[in-house]
Amino acid sequence: LAKSLGGGTWRFFSPDMARRASEQAQLEAELRSAVKRQEFELHYQPFVDLRDNSVVGAEALLRWRHPQRGMLRPDAFLGLAEESGLILPINEWVLREACRQGAVWNAAGHGALRIAVNVSPIQFRRQKVGDLVREALAESGLRPDLLELELTEGILISHDDQILGEMALLRSLGVSLSVDDFSTGYSSLSYIRNFPLQRLKIDSSFVKELAHGPRALAIVRTIIDLGHILNLQVLAEGVEEEEQLAVLRAEGCDEVQGYYFSRPLPPAAFIEWLSAQGMEGAHARPSKAERT
Ligand code: C2E
Ligand code: MG
Ligand code: MG
Ligand code: MG
Repeated sequence: LAKSLGGGTWRFFSPDMARRASEQAQLEAELRSAVKRQEFELHYQPFVDLRDNSVVGAEALLRWRHPQRGMLRPDAFLGLAEESGLILPINEWVLREACRQGAVWNAAGHGALRIAVNVSPIQFRRQKVGDLVREALAESGLRPDLLELELTEGILISHDDQILGEMALLRSLGVSLSVDDFSTGYSSLSYIRNFPLQRLKIDSSFVKELAHGPRALAIVRTIIDLGHILNLQVLAEGVEEEEQLAVLRAEGCDEVQGYYFSRPLPPAAFIEWLSAQGMEGAHARPSKAERT
């Protein structure tokens, strides 16, 4: 039994595929119950301001504490969560939990920490994101300007009036919007001028290649300059090495995030890490112990 996928590609159904399909079905059932049993948690990875090395915020990153398979990262289940629609209740929980945690930290005097939450394209298509955010802010008491939503190209390339409307609403609430995994793709230039954005996050693949030649440097420099010309802040993701940090600093990048400073940490460990940096006007230092 074979099925044409067009373009001369053929795919054969094998015992292997049957096994994979049943594994997927099993995972979907587990994912469904994980929502009910609240097996998800958020880990936080710091944003460091390059002007003074202070910690200015953190990205909330989803983890699934699977009863048998241990701690799972999003790559292991996000695809399925999106296909099955389970991403909607999951991301609703992420938004509320991140706002709750952010409000607690800010009330506890850990400085003004901006909390960033990843948003899925499906959410924008199927939910009123503005209303969800308004509720999460009201419920938590988090200052709206301390919440940031990270949007992907998938959301931004659809020149959709409804999405534009949601973004305008989010901006009117005072929430900031950033572009995750920003690259210099064909579509990037048109959407960054059409949407009310505050920040570009340079895709980690460019940061990774910074040491390996002039091409990545040219791209990084272009993104930083472009961002600044358009009055956007620029953050570089995936900074692991001292050398990468030095280049980004020299190029005028505003903020960085990456294993060089810290891996994503569970809330208690994040606060411990933050305190170890010297809480008042924290100066982030490289965390060699984390870089294994
Ligand atoms: P992202 O938003 O681009 O997040 C950055 C990813 O890079 C995270 O992976 C983070 O752990 C990893 N990272 C950070 N610094 C470094 C570094 O120095 N080196 C390397 N090699 N990696 C680094 P993670 O946590 O596995 O998340 C993967 C992706 O899953 C995220 O990419 C985001 O697109 C998605 N995601 C995470 N949490 C959520 C969520 O709550 N909702 C939705 N819809 N998507 C999420
Ligand atoms: Mg992100
Ligand atoms: Mg990213
Ligand atoms: Mg990424």
